[in-house]
Amino acid sequence: MINNLETSAIKSNPTPGIKNYHFESFNLLVVTDGDVEYDNDCFAPGIPSMELKQLREKHSSLSTHFMLPHNIMVFVSGDKTIMIDAGNGDKAKPDAGKLVDNLHAAGIKPADLTDIVLTHAHPDHFNGLISNSCQLVFPNAKIHMHQKEFDFWQDDQADFSKSKNPADSLRSLQLEIQFFFSQIGGKLQLFSADEPLFDFLQPILTPGHTPGHCMFTITAGSEKFIHMADIFHDEIVLFAKPEWGTIFDIDFDLAARTRQTILEEFAASKQRVFGYHLPWPGFGHIEKNNDGFTWVTDLT
Ligand SMILES: [Zn+2]
Repeated sequence: MINNLETSAIKSNPTPGIKNYHFESFNLLVVTDGDVEYDNDCFAPGIPSMELKQLREKHSSLSTHFMLPHNIMVFVSGDKTIMIDAGNGDKAKPDAGKLVDNLHAAGIKPADLTDIVLTHAHPDHFNGLISNSCQLVFPNAKIHMHQKEFDFWQDDQADFSKSKNPADSLRSLQLEIQFFFSQIGGKLQLFSADEPLFDFLQPILTPGHTPGHCMFTITAGSEKFIHMADIFHDEIVLFAKPEWGTIFDIDFDLAARTRQTILEEFAASKQRVFGYHLPWPGFGHIEKNNDGFTWVTDLT
């Protein structure tokens, strides 16, 4: 069991965007960067919009648009403060871009961060690293990313033919990502999935969404849980219809197969998992039923 030990500071001044979990080997904070609304066309490309609407209504979704949460894990372990992904940054204010304010509320200054691990190189995960004035927001942090992710976006011949997103959009995204790489320069440290990044954090290469997309196994004593990153972007559609996918997937079919495999595996094992874009605070588990799969949020 994870003990949800809210600190006295948080108790006396509750901050809705911060959760604190205490383990023997580290403290884990989950911090929200806020929610961002996405166009319905980003989801289930090729599926009639009425079918998408009906599926969401069947699962009692009251909202007509997709509001994507951004849940960020921060580990405080000895002299290290390690964060997974960095949110949307200044550009997304006021609805998102709340990471730094929430870190301050939790008693963490940007300069305290020693390491930031990117699950993949999409702007909703890296924009929080660079300010509007092109300064590093976390000046002392090394930035870790899978080698395959870096190589793919750096390649001017990158294969965009397996995505449902038009190649023109992906090429402008690629320029944005390459600009980001140029900004973080010497801070970047590339890893492979074969070795643990830290003693409690093991990458799992899960390509499809992007070629170097990683999930992470987090080990806390005898427990482990999995950060699933962007395998799922919502708690309804991609669980009920994992093959419907999103336009964000670089290899649409591989992303769908990866998603399906993860659903089967984690529903069977009842593994506690975490999603960057799943309902706050991001923890939960997957259940299999007659209709497919369901996400169950863990609010504790
Ligand atoms: Zn994302």
